[in-house]
Amino acid sequence: MKLETRLVQTGVKWDKRTGSVSMPIYQSATFQHPRLGESTGFDYSRSGNPTRQVLEEAIATAEGGQRGFAFSSGMAAITTILYLFQPGDHLIVSDDLYGGTYRLFEQILTGYGLQFTYVDTSDLQAVEAQLKANTKALFIETPTNPLMKITDIKGAAGLAKSKNLLTIVDNTFMTPYFQRPLELGADIVVHSGTKYLGGHNDLVAGLVVTKDQALGEKIYFYQNAIGAILGPQDCWLLIRGMKTLGIRLERQQENALRLARRLQQHPAVEKIFFPGLLDHPGYRLHLSQSKGYGGMLSFTVKSQDLVPQILERVKIISFAESLGGVETLITFPAVQTHADIPQEIREAKGISNTLLRLSVGIEAVDDLIEDLEQALGE
Ligand SMILES: *Cc1c(COP(=O)(O)O)cnc(C)c1O
Repeated sequence: MKLETRLVQTGVKWDKRTGSVSMPIYQSATFQHPRLGESTGFDYSRSGNPTRQVLEEAIATAEGGQRGFAFSSGMAAITTILYLFQPGDHLIVSDDLYGGTYRLFEQILTGYGLQFTYVDTSDLQAVEAQLKANTKALFIETPTNPLMKITDIKGAAGLAKSKNLLTIVDNTFMTPYFQRPLELGADIVVHSGTKYLGGHNDLVAGLVVTKDQALGEKIYFYQNAIGAILGPQDCWLLIRGMKTLGIRLERQQENALRLARRLQQHPAVEKIFFPGLLDHPGYRLHLSQSKGYGGMLSFTVKSQDLVPQILERVKIISFAESLGGVETLITFPAVQTHADIPQEIREAKGISNTLLRLSVGIEAVDDLIEDLEQALGE
């Protein structure tokens, strides 16, 4: 079965007793034991819940992995994975990274003895140059957020394997519909399910998939011991969202490409960051490892005065954080998603005060173009 079919069929044949087509929500904290020493397979909902199990199996299959796990947020998922490491361990991380991940690593986990080096992972030689005796993993985002830099997943995972390191890929931007890092050699994929997988800006969730069982057993132990699990109602919402992943993404990327081409010609726009444009530096590499370029695009405007103007004038597009939903959102990374990255570092990386990020939705693209053009002014 193709991915789209499998996602649509999630949970459909699960309830044999009633034939319910929609996966039931098992809103139960605990489950009766048939008799001493026996279990239905479910004991207590932190350890396992039927609605969550169906979601976890669906994401594992979609990513081509062995085990899937659902968490209460993307950050809860990343936090749980980071328990795989011990004080003194070192990780190499993509430098243009989701701001919340940077905050977790720099403001919390360094205090527990983990070390992080931020590298432009689109340059594998730069990655290799930062390897240390205590390096244990690569943590990659590709495309990066918000500058859309592309990392060679196969190359990075190959390098990691040769040094006995884990490769962890945050696949939030591409989703398994476009990109499957485990098939390219990564060991762990993590998602903010809040974004494309949920797809409707109505849910906060996180997901993890491991390539093999052994790593899956470890993550399962941490998921249950730490307890940052996703509740059954939200598991159901995420299952529902994932059913339409394919058609949403197709429309989102079509809209994004149209918008990118239009913005390219606008006199107030300076630069576009979108992996679907031929002049994007990672264009070829990206399309060699992904089936699409997605619905995220960033652009800089020529004058800083335009930023507040655009954010105030947009009518259909919402000025809001987050991404991946059916509604188009515009974000100002320097003051929103990336505010926790110190200004000098931010500027040096190119996350300037004229950079805006669009998460393109599924609206009629002509309405989006008109909205942006009136906001930019003539
Ligand atoms: C949003 C996001 C996260 C964090 O996920 P939450 O669900 O907000 O906790 C992590 N990585 C990326 C790339 C994201 O966009």
